[in-house]
Amino acid sequence: MSKMTSLSDAFYDELQDIYSAEMQLVKALPKMAKKATCEKLTAAFELHLDQTKIQVERVEKAFKDTGNAAKAKTCEAMKGLIKESESAMEEEADPEVMDAILIALAQKVEHYEIATYGTLCTWAEKLGYTDAKKLLGENMDEEEKTDKALTKLSVSKNQAAMA
Ligand code: FE
Ligand code: FE
Ligand code: FE
Repeated sequence: MSKMTSLSDAFYDELQDIYSAEMQLVKALPKMAKKATCEKLTAAFELHLDQTKIQVERVEKAFKDTGNAAKAKTCEAMKGLIKESESAMEEEADPEVMDAILIALAQKVEHYEIATYGTLCTWAEKLGYTDAKKLLGENMDEEEKTDKALTKLSVSKNQAAMA
């Protein structure tokens, strides 16, 4: 990309990154839902898949404040996290252990998203991008709730995996 000279350039760049990350997740989450054995975990992944599809739309709308077109720039970090989860899903493991691994993988993803939305919300506030701030804040809330739900599930899953 051309030289970034202001915070608005950095914001636009980061927005393209999360746009890519969310779209990658729309493809990855169904595989994780399918791999999970515990019904609650499958349900959690399916719920978050539905949320993620809406998150993609929110990010798309958030571009409006930048005055630039909505476009994606491959998020290499998400690509890496998904690659890690794909190889982990190929491992042979007891169902409880695989579920514990899936939760761990999903939480890494959520934390990455939370970090990115945290930055984007702070920058949107500074830049006076009111709509973007609201939209991205909604996404961040969902990621945080998902992370907490996964922590809750991990408490019982990890216990089962100890057996
Ligand atoms: Fe997301
Ligand atoms: Fe990224
Ligand atoms: Fe998420």
